[in-house]
This record gives sequence, structure tokens and C-alpha cells, in this order.
Amino acid sequence: MSFIVAIDGPAGTGKGTITKLIAKELGLLNIDTGAMYRCVTLQALRNNITTIEEQQKIIEIAKNIDIKIEHNKEEQQIYLNGENVSKEIRNKEVSGFVSPVSSIPKVREIMVKLQRKMSEDSDIIMEGRDITTVVFPNADVKIYLDANVEERAKRRYMENKEKGIQMTYEEVLEAIKVRDYNDMNKKVGALKIAEDAIVIDTTNMTIDEVKQKVKKIILKKR
Ligand code: C5P
Repeated sequence: MSFIVAIDGPAGTGKGTITKLIAKELGLLNIDTGAMYRCVTLQALRNNITTIEEQQKIIEIAKNIDIKIEHNKEEQQIYLNGENVSKEIRNKEVSGFVSPVSSIPKVREIMVKLQRKMSEDSDIIMEGRDITTVVFPNADVKIYLDANVEERAKRRYMENKEKGIQMTYEEVLEAIKVRDYNDMNKKVGALKIAEDAIVIDTTNMTIDEVKQKVKKIILKKR
């Protein structure tokens, strides 16, 4: 049986950064499930699908998509049908449509199956919205990272700037609020705190402090 660390939380809590660092330090395979939903969304947009009225077409895309997450470089690289889309999946259009796309139950079913399969051969650290509740409710470690919305928007704004993604702070804040609402109110796979998850409020913590805290929790169980 693989050792599984499951991490959930809303956008901008530092999940991605923390899991990446810990994966490296503890030799765990890092799986960013948000990137998977972003790939389905990007492929839908490329096929001129901009609303979930065309649900069936989005489901077909999810069924046939080939997503690869590679970790052999400094940064995680995401491949969609063989093409490196690491940057494109973070753009404004994808960020604005990913929550509706990921609210389609059949799309979630397909992604959850893929995510479980990814854990078969190695110890993993997986982050997303429903990892502690749906994908791996029996994970060895379950953590919910949180932070207030202004702080999260500030972090995402800075991150975007570094990546060359052009959005104002106000745009980022508004987009995160909309996404929070959608993510928390999905019929299937909604973002919620699992009963037995350890909640960490990262609002006033540095990345290193959060990392140390999460690492300590993992090492206690491993
Ligand atoms: O983590 P990230 O912000 O990249 O996730 C993008 C979107 O994908 C989230 O806002 C959410 O709507 C969706 N998602 C999901 N379930 C997951 C991971 C992400 O529904 N496990």
C-alpha cells in the first residue's frame, strides 16, 4: 500500500508551493489535481466550448484526454496530449472556466479514477479540493490549508506577476471569490473540511513555517 498525503484548501493557500517542496524533501510523488481539471478546461476552450451547456462534449474531452505530470525539472511540467501547457493552463480564461467544468459529475468521476491510479506505484502527496473527502478519504495524512481571501488574492497576484500573467489585484480577488463560491457549492466534490483533517490557517505564516508544520505532521505518521 502506498503512503498517501492528501491536502485540500481553496485557491491561494500555498498548497501548490508547499506540496512541491515537501514532495522533493520527502521523496513523494507530487500530484496537482487542479492542473488536471485545468487541462480539461483548456482543451474545451480550444474546441470553442465556453459554457457547460455543452456538457457532453466536455465529458468526451475528459474521457479522451492524455494528461502527464512530469517532475524531472525544477518546475512541475504539465503535458496535454503531448504538448507542454504548464503556463497556458494558468491563464485568465482557463481560471474563469475551470470551476464550472469541474462541477460536471462525470468529469470528476473520470479525474478521480485517474488520480487513484496515479497512487498505485508510489508514495504520493496530492493536492486539490476533494482529495481528503472523495479521492482518498482514508489517506494516511489529511490536511486542510486555509487563509483569508485577501491574503490569498495577494499571493496569487504576486505569483501571476512572476509568471507573466497579467491580472490586476482586484481582478484576482474577484476571480478567487467567485471560484471559492463555486468550489464550495458543487453538488459533487465540493470543497469542505473533512472531519478528521488537520486545519492550518496560513494567513500569518510564511511558506517555510507552513512547510515545517506540514512536514512534522507527515513525519509523525510515516
Ligand atoms: O488548484 P487550482 O486552483 O489550480 O484548481 C483549479 C480549479 O479546479 C479549482 O478552482 C476547482 O474548481 C477545480 N478543482 C477541483 N477538484 C480538485 C482540484 C481542483 O474541482 N481536486
